[in-house]
Amino acid sequence: FFFDPFQHLFPVHHKYLFISDIYIPLYLFVISLKADTHYTKLPSPCYHTIRKQHRIKNRRRLSMRDVLEQAVALGKTHTHEGAVATYIPELGKVDGSQLGVSVFCRNGKRISVGDTKVRFSIQSISKIITLAVALEICGFDQVFKKVGMEPTGDPFNSLMKLENTDSSPYNPMINAGAIVVASCLASEISFDTMLDTIRALCMDPDINLDKKVYHSEMSHISRNRAIAYLLESKGYIEKNKDVENSLHFYVKMCSLSVTAESLAGLGLILANDGIHPDTGKRLLSSQAVKIVKTLMFTCGMYDGSGEFAVRVGIPSKSGVGGGILSVVDGEMGIGIFGPALDKKGNSVAGECVLEYMSHELHLHMFDPQRHTL
Ligand code: GLU
Repeated sequence: FFFDPFQHLFPVHHKYLFISDIYIPLYLFVISLKADTHYTKLPSPCYHTIRKQHRIKNRRRLSMRDVLEQAVALGKTHTHEGAVATYIPELGKVDGSQLGVSVFCRNGKRISVGDTKVRFSIQSISKIITLAVALEICGFDQVFKKVGMEPTGDPFNSLMKLENTDSSPYNPMINAGAIVVASCLASEISFDTMLDTIRALCMDPDINLDKKVYHSEMSHISRNRAIAYLLESKGYIEKNKDVENSLHFYVKMCSLSVTAESLAGLGLILANDGIHPDTGKRLLSSQAVKIVKTLMFTCGMYDGSGEFAVRVGIPSKSGVGGGILSVVDGEMGIGIFGPALDKKGNSVAGECVLEYMSHELHLHMFDPQRHTL
């Protein structure tokens, strides 16, 4: 043999014994696995689990509701692997076993399974709204003069690159970038007007500021305050803008209470190029929507964005309140609530749900069957 993968396992003096018994079959088995890889699915813990658990083989074409129900059933088996965020004490009181997924389609179909009407804290998902509205009000040049478009690979609240490089905050999906965007917007629009805009974008008139979450976060704000003042010292928050005001605006945006259905509503508006599917009214410009979806795809799932893009392939934004908002372009918005988080801050069960949906419904952006829905 020219290639001996078991060299380190079986000492040379035992080789002949193994060749006659198990060595050759074992070697052939490994080679056959290698030959298989070009058409088997990517290794995916969630996907394989459900195939094993539910014995889905040669299955009939499942309805969307079937898929959502199976996805939630699968996700529920993973909630114990995560934990609710506690660094904002109010979020630590949430029941981590909850899970819901809601889908709003462009053709008017709406399907919700699980805890989709429970109100929870939008947290980082608000970053996409702040960015979209800032692009409308302040314009592309003003926004991207102060913030970049590159993924960081660092945690969302990291100060490392901000301190150690001369670059502006890498992108608007991390805290530093979102605080800069908030500083552009805070002096241009009142929070009440912002709230009205958000209610329209999410098709949910009941969205409100959760004051308990807001005060809870404001009393544990040291890290974000450090980021904000570092931004000011480096000139990314202008001297004439009030740093504290920008910080309050940012935290208020994070403290909005939404449901999985509200997120699906905003997801649908983004999937539909910024146009409300029922009224035909344009709520966001095409350019703003395109930028937001692109940054969701490259930076929306914290420092897990790359792997998520490979496994799931749907532009998404998560928040430490347990929400995920996903956009299947041209087709549907997906909203998820699953507050048990993994180490990176993404909903453990939410990621499973999306991975399962992506496989079953061919929603991955580069799935060759993507447009056969
Ligand atoms: N308000 C949170 C923070 O600034 C948002 C974090 C998140 O959801 O990623 O820490």
